[in-house]
Amino acid sequence: MSFQINTFEAYQAAYDKSVSDPEAFWGEIAEHFFWKRKWTNVLNWNFKEPDIRWFDGAKLNITENCLDRHIYSNGDKPAIIWEPNDPQEAHRVLTYKQLLAKVEQFAHVLKNNNVKKGDRVCIYLPMVPELAIATLACARIGAIHSVVFGGFSARSIADRINDAQCKLVITSDGGFRGNKVLELKNIVDDALVQCQSVERVIVLTRSRTPVSMIKGRDVWWEDEISKVETQGNLAFPAEEMDSEDPLFILYTSGSTGTPKGVVHSTAGYMVYTGYTFSNVFQYQPDEIYFCTADIGWITGHSYIVYGPLSQGATSVMFEGIPTFPDAGRFWDIVAKHKVNILYTAPTAIRSLMAFGDEYLENKDLSSIRKLGSVGEPINEEAWNWFSEKIGGGNAPITDTWWQTENGGILIAPLAGVSPTIPGYAMLPLPGVQPCLMDENGKEIVENDVTGNLCIKFPWPGMLRTTWGDHERCQKTYFSTYEDMYFTGDGCYRNKDGYYRITGRVDDVLNVSGHRIGTAEVENAINMHSDVVESAIVGYPHSVKGQGIYAYVIANHHGKEEDTKQNILQTVTRLIGAIAKPDVIQFVEDLPKTRSGKIMRRILRKIAEGDTDNFGDTSTLLDPSIVDKILEGAQAHK
Ligand code: ATP
Ligand code: MG
Repeated sequence: MSFQINTFEAYQAAYDKSVSDPEAFWGEIAEHFFWKRKWTNVLNWNFKEPDIRWFDGAKLNITENCLDRHIYSNGDKPAIIWEPNDPQEAHRVLTYKQLLAKVEQFAHVLKNNNVKKGDRVCIYLPMVPELAIATLACARIGAIHSVVFGGFSARSIADRINDAQCKLVITSDGGFRGNKVLELKNIVDDALVQCQSVERVIVLTRSRTPVSMIKGRDVWWEDEISKVETQGNLAFPAEEMDSEDPLFILYTSGSTGTPKGVVHSTAGYMVYTGYTFSNVFQYQPDEIYFCTADIGWITGHSYIVYGPLSQGATSVMFEGIPTFPDAGRFWDIVAKHKVNILYTAPTAIRSLMAFGDEYLENKDLSSIRKLGSVGEPINEEAWNWFSEKIGGGNAPITDTWWQTENGGILIAPLAGVSPTIPGYAMLPLPGVQPCLMDENGKEIVENDVTGNLCIKFPWPGMLRTTWGDHERCQKTYFSTYEDMYFTGDGCYRNKDGYYRITGRVDDVLNVSGHRIGTAEVENAINMHSDVVESAIVGYPHSVKGQGIYAYVIANHHGKEEDTKQNILQTVTRLIGAIAKPDVIQFVEDLPKTRSGKIMRRILRKIAEGDTDNFGDTSTLLDPSIVDKILEGAQAHK
């Protein structure tokens, strides 16, 4: 018996049970995993400190659930299909058997290099199978991984290594992204000048970029593997972990402030990612699933590695970018590997949509059955394009709302099971109890309302602390409202009780007493055929309280003024005159984090005319964009 729910009635029943008796509900789900010893208590919690413990007293190792337990029935099933950056290079397939063998080998390597249970290991690798292998090998030995996205600078890596006091770094000589080669090892060398805690660096060969190896510190991945191979017995018994032993640290993307080292623990995270993967995507045993995220982000942790593997799925992992060699690359991958489930981000959808439909010509997308979106509110136009052009009009879209801190998806339709509305994340998953709070700290119980989104009750995948600073965790998430986890997101619940995320709370504007979500205005602007993308922020306005400032990327063909007028008309028609931007500034590009999120706090500063202190911009993809926007903004003064 599986824990997958396949009808809407069954969803409702599961949801009701998860609220009336959460411990019985999650206890039954946990029975579908492999434990070395069962728990004594399903849940102990308080949101004051906070102190959250799931499946206390149990012993397990997550890699036995992701690998060993599939070997007898499914050992030859592909676990990972890896698609390289360059389509001319051969792809790689790792079956469950092969992946387990590689993870065990590399666990030996970690052990030989003095890594012990509880040690922190920084992983800074491109999207190659060894990234998944290294991650799982850490989990096998009980070391805590901290994966740092392969696009980050030396400074960002050093900050993260120092925060977690990592003992070992795993990197590669270089990595390929589109037509660029990233010199990862050189960047690590720069970072390590500032890091005292690192004793050892393991370097994988990928790009054959020349590197300098520091004697006594740096070793090659391949050399370490050959040493292990000569040792004989290659099995590596999985370390016995407590339920609440930390599994990993992952830093948030930093779109609202300095990144936080979010800590996830073992048992709850495993149960939650496995359960949500199976249910949200309605994964069937023969399906090929492709999540386009990078393992450097939570989406990759939960829905490329741990969730799919714990469910015995086939997970496609892509090294490159959606626009290399051209904007048809995702569709080529779908056709080549006969992808059934595609999980991607609005930022990718919008950018591919802007390249035009010619990149879809002659692409065989007939294998697609289900689509997913994550990372930002998805605007209606992008939703419709995704549905029609990629899903052929009949593949359900699941718009999944969640955060690094959540471990897994919290609000989303179950693909093909729950109803959908473009731009809506719809309903909470079983076990998730969302609520909307007003400015006075009161819960709003009615429908057709907007409020600050909180979660009332623990779910197994939630964060336990922020590394080295429990007080920051308490302050950031558990102090705004008593006994609630505060998400920081604004949300609209429609008359039927369906949820629509409107963006960050500080992105909800108050214009002449009307609450307007930035996403709503962006949605309307993006409907204009010349507009590629837009970002809305508020700024102090002497009459309205807040004015609306729009940054717009558009092909206005030199007719700026006409396009502006058309945009204003579009907004008036779709939302009303109240939502008309006071300022429209055309920009070449928007400041985005490396995970593709718009850094609205910078745009807000520019709109406010405060141009001195932009805070931490180290996670920006291209910091030079900020100067260009600033120049443009001067012209509006
Ligand atoms: P930081 O917390 O450091 O500012 P971040 O919040 O950008 O970084 P993530 O945890 O990756 O880092 O992003 C979570 C946020 O992304 C959510 O709080 C929400 O604002 C947004 N988000 C994610 N998925 C969706 C979705 N499906 N619809 C709307 N918004 C989404
Ligand atoms: Mg956040």
